[in-house]
Amino acid sequence: MTTVSDVLVIGSGVFGLASAWNLARAGRSVIVLDRAPVGTEASGWALGRLDPLLKGSGSTGATEQDLPEGQISKPEAQQELARLSFRAHQELSSEIEDVSGVDIQVDHQPTLQLFYSAEERAFAKSYAARWTAQGFQTDLVTTDEIHKIDSRFNPTEFGGAMVRGPYFIDSLRFVTALASCARAAGARMETATVTSLETLVGSGNVNVHTDQGHYEAETVVVAAGPWSPDLLKPIGTDIPVHPSKGEILRLEPPASGPFSAHVHGPCSLVLKKDGLVWVAATAADAGFDRTPTDASRRKLLENARTMMPEAAESAVAMHTVCFRPATPDDLPVLGRAGDRGNVIVATGGGGSGIVQCLYIGRQVEEMVATGRAEPELASISLSRFGD
Ligand SMILES: Cc1cc2nc3c(=O)[nH]c(=O)nc-3n(C[C@H](O)[C@H](O)[C@H](O)COP(=O)(O)OP(=O)(O)OC[C@H]3O[C@@H](n4cnc5c(N)ncnc54)[C@H](O)[C@@H]3O)c2cc1C
Repeated sequence: MTTVSDVLVIGSGVFGLASAWNLARAGRSVIVLDRAPVGTEASGWALGRLDPLLKGSGSTGATEQDLPEGQISKPEAQQELARLSFRAHQELSSEIEDVSGVDIQVDHQPTLQLFYSAEERAFAKSYAARWTAQGFQTDLVTTDEIHKIDSRFNPTEFGGAMVRGPYFIDSLRFVTALASCARAAGARMETATVTSLETLVGSGNVNVHTDQGHYEAETVVVAAGPWSPDLLKPIGTDIPVHPSKGEILRLEPPASGPFSAHVHGPCSLVLKKDGLVWVAATAADAGFDRTPTDASRRKLLENARTMMPEAAESAVAMHTVCFRPATPDDLPVLGRAGDRGNVIVATGGGGSGIVQCLYIGRQVEEMVATGRAEPELASISLSRFGD
């Protein structure tokens, strides 16, 4: 028996669920297939930092290459997407909580960006007014001022910047909430491993083969994270998405009490609402190796020690591994594939997929509604990679 729907979404990570939610509430019949429970992969394990300004410490690809010395912001090419994505969270967060009944643990603590060179300080100085004008109050602080904020922080002679506006959520709660929203809008979620896709002669619909039987849909959205290339290659679409392994430590809080800023430098150090100090993250090309390594644990503790020596003395409560769907330019991939262009590719969120997903979900729905081949932003189009 074949199950038929308007749209079939492969992947119940944040990209798939944000797409499913938007499609279902626009009136389409939607089925979401995943081989695993919601939140099993990166969408359930990410740090949950929503920051449109600063580059992440576990950044990969273009964010780590060829940036001028001292650049602490995301590269210019990523800034428009970051702005639009952040705005989508501001617009939709409350609705997501209301509809799902899930507290996604929005946490507005400021970011204390520590500087490790005169160039970083000069860069922040040149951006502070711009970021403040955009609603992200940015104040340069001296080494002494940082000690006054919290004597346990360990700044260099170059000081830092207090940035207000970027914030945190709990990724697992967020992806769970998105699943509730998608279901409430009428999307059906089923467990199945997709094995292949094929275009049907005649109807032009896409036939989706799974270990649980066949599905047929007018449009298929491939949002299978770093596993997306395996599904797309057999239908003739190569996307340069690869797994970037990221490890995070969650530490017991410092014995001397909590601290109230996200400290950012060689890593993120943040006391989250789960009561644990998250130290994030590493980035490695190691395929789909899910093993937490001692080397990463040591590296993360060393980075934490650099910024706040006491934090690194606490016991490790959790050591997690998940995979970013990474692209060479650190931008997602959105576009049409398949014989008739009715396979929509939505992946490549890299280290910013949680912040990007609500914008991507809206874009997917718009592409289905209008039949448009390209997303609004050329910078994220599938066609940028050529044939
Ligand atoms: C360590 C780390 C920290 C991060 N921190 C942040 C952060 O602070 N802020 C931020 O914005 N982003 C962050 N990210 C990035 C973010 O987690 C990812 O970009 C995002 O979760 C990817 O979502 P996705 O839906 O594309 O993929 P995934 O979450 O990987 O979901 C893909 C889904 O597809 C399913 N699937 C795959 N193949 C098949 C198949 N054949 N059949 C059926 N189902 C299949 C999988 O089971 C999975 O559920 C972080 C990532 C890492 C690794």
